Amino acid sequence: MSMIAAHPGLLPPRTEARETLVGLDRRGLADRLQDLGVPERQLRMRARQLWSWLYVRGATDFAAMTDIAKELRSELGASFSLARPDVAVEQISEDGTRKWLLRLTDGKEVETVYIPEEDRGTLCISSQVGCTLTCSFCHTGTQKLVRNLNPAEIVGQIMVARDRLGDWPGAVAEDARGIPDTERKITNVVLMGMGEPLYNFDNVREAMTIASDGEGLSVSKRRITLSTSGVVPEIPRWGAEAGTMLAISLHAVRDELRDQLVPINKRWPIRDLLDACRAYPGLSNAKRITFEYVMLKDVNDSVSDAKELVRLLAKIPAKINLIPFNPWPGAPFECSDWEQIEQFAEIVNRAGYASPVRSPRGRDIMAACGQLKSASVKERASARVAV
Ligand code: SAH
Ligand code: SF4
Repeated sequence: MSMIAAHPGLLPPRTEARETLVGLDRRGLADRLQDLGVPERQLRMRARQLWSWLYVRGATDFAAMTDIAKELRSELGASFSLARPDVAVEQISEDGTRKWLLRLTDGKEVETVYIPEEDRGTLCISSQVGCTLTCSFCHTGTQKLVRNLNPAEIVGQIMVARDRLGDWPGAVAEDARGIPDTERKITNVVLMGMGEPLYNFDNVREAMTIASDGEGLSVSKRRITLSTSGVVPEIPRWGAEAGTMLAISLHAVRDELRDQLVPINKRWPIRDLLDACRAYPGLSNAKRITFEYVMLKDVNDSVSDAKELVRLLAKIPAKINLIPFNPWPGAPFECSDWEQIEQFAEIVNRAGYASPVRSPRGRDIMAACGQLKSASVKERASARVAV
C-alpha cells in the first residue's frame, strides 16, 4: 500500500468563498451567467461552452477556456471557482484499488473508491456523510454525524477521481499503477459508498443526470448502479425518474433475520421489497437487478439459506452477488469459511447465476464494501481514548 497527499489535519484551512460551478447543470450555469450580466441571447451558448469545459475537458482553471472572452473569464473567476472536494488522503492498494478521503467545505469527510480491472474501471461513490441506517455488519452505520451530500459533492467525487486518474482528454495520471489501458478510466459508477442514496433522492438524481449526460461525463445509465438497503417507496420513483441499474442489499432470506441485519426491513419487509423489484421498469435478461448478499459465518450462510435465496428470486431478472464479509475493528461478525461460501455459491450457480462471488478488492487499505468510515471520526475517537 502507498499513501500520498496531505495527511488529515495538514490541509490548509479553507478560505474559499466562491461558489463552485462543479455540480451545476446547463440551467444552473445559465442562471449564474445571467447573474453576471451575460445578455439573454448569449446565455445558452455560453452555458454550453462552460458545461463542456467542466464536464468534457475537466478544466480546473477559467484561463484555459479560450473560446470565452477574456473579460467574461475574469468575471467568472472573481465570482466562482471550479473546485472539487479536497483530497485529504489518497491511498493506493497493492491491487491498484484507490481510496480517497475527501474533505468537504464544512470539514466533513467522505470516501470514494476506484476499482480497476483489465478492461474497465468502477468508481464507488458516497451519497451521504455517514448513514442514518444501522445495518449491524456495516462500518458506515456506526458513524454518528450524518448529512446529505449535495450535487456538487456527488459529481465532485467523479471529477476528483478523473483528475487523479488522468481521465480527461490529453491528461495523464500522476501515478498510473494498476489503471487499465482503456480509453476511459472510469467506465462504471456504483452508488455503494457511504450512505443510503434513496434517502438523498433529489441530490443523487440531479448528480446522476449530470454524470450520464452523453455530451458530458458520459457514464451511461446502464453503467450506473444505485444500491439500496430497501427504501421501498422510493424504488419505483427512482426507476421512473432516474432509471439507472439497481442493486438491493438483501443479505437475508427471512424477515426475522433481515430485521436484525438490515433494520429498515422492519418497515419494509422482504415481500414488499421484492414486489418493488419485480415492478422495476425495463427489466430483462440484459438488464437485471443485482442482489447483494454478505456472507456472515453461521448467520446467513447455510445451504437452506442458499436454496431459499434462489427460490425467492426465481421470477425476477436477477444477478446474485455474494460478498465475503469485510471485517472492521470491533465488528460483531466473521466472514463465512471459504468452503461454506463455495457450497453456497454452487447452489446459486446451479440455479443459473454465473460467477456469484465478488472478489474483495483493496482490503489492505480498508476500501472494501462496508468498511468506509471517514478517518477523522476514527482519529477523533482514538484521540478521546488517548485523553
Ligand atoms: N446504503 C446502500 C449502499 C452502500 S453499502 C446499501 O446498503 O445498499 C454497499 C454494499 O456493501 C451493501 O450491499 C452493503 O450491505 C454492503 N456492506 C456493508 N458492510 C459490509 C461489510 N462489512 N462487508 C461486506 N459488505 C458490506
Ligand atoms: Fe447504511 Fe448501506 Fe451501511 Fe446499511 S449497509 S448502514 S444502508 S451504508
